[in-house]
Amino acid sequence: MAEALTLDAFARWLKQFAETVHDNVGLLTDLDSAIGDADHGTNMDRGFKAVVSVLDGNGFESPDALFKKVGMTLVSTVGGASGPLYGTFFLRFGSALQGVEAVGTQELGKALRAGVEGIVTRGKAELEDKTMYDAWAPALEAFDRAAPEGTAAALAAAATAAGEGRDATTDMLARKGRASYLGERSIGHQDPGATSATMLLESAAATLA
Ligand code: ADP
Ligand code: MG
Repeated sequence: MAEALTLDAFARWLKQFAETVHDNVGLLTDLDSAIGDADHGTNMDRGFKAVVSVLDGNGFESPDALFKKVGMTLVSTVGGASGPLYGTFFLRFGSALQGVEAVGTQELGKALRAGVEGIVTRGKAELEDKTMYDAWAPALEAFDRAAPEGTAAALAAAATAAGEGRDATTDMLARKGRASYLGERSIGHQDPGATSATMLLESAAATLA
């Protein structure tokens, strides 16, 4: 069996994602300027910079304590639609790890699923609404399919599937969030939230494996 995930590994994941978001502020903002209000990059960068300072300034007793703090930090700093959605993801992700002794592949998969269920409960997105859920849903399926091969394989498969889901958002008509105000004009643009969600899974594959 693969090693269980440590608090340090989770912190590396969040820091890697914060760095990726920072390097891609321009891309995320450009995508959001086409079908939204051009703030997804700056929203996420602000939020994950705050997450990194929280990680650097605190010791945490458990993954659920760490992710609870991360979720609350995001809710209070990101704003927009994505703040509560990413915040809820990490709050639920953390809750799912409560009392878990060793976070192996199964436990990680359950926590990811709980996080995404939180996103859906909050945002009511369905498949093909052109949101971050279109990256998350295929990623969860791919994770579960590859889970018997271990955490590294499951995360790699999830990241690849998320990327495919993200790419598929381009041809979709937005039915949720700001982009939905554009109707047909939302078609032909990649969804910013599906793009950042894919980066989150790519960061996980790079750091948690
Ligand atoms: P805002 O739309 O408030 O400006 P952001 O620009 O930070 O917030 O985030 C936009 C992203 O949020 C979209 O690209 C989409 O992926 C995601 N999103 C918006 N509404 C929903 C929803 N109801 N469910 C899931 N994701 C959503
Ligand atoms: Mg926006």
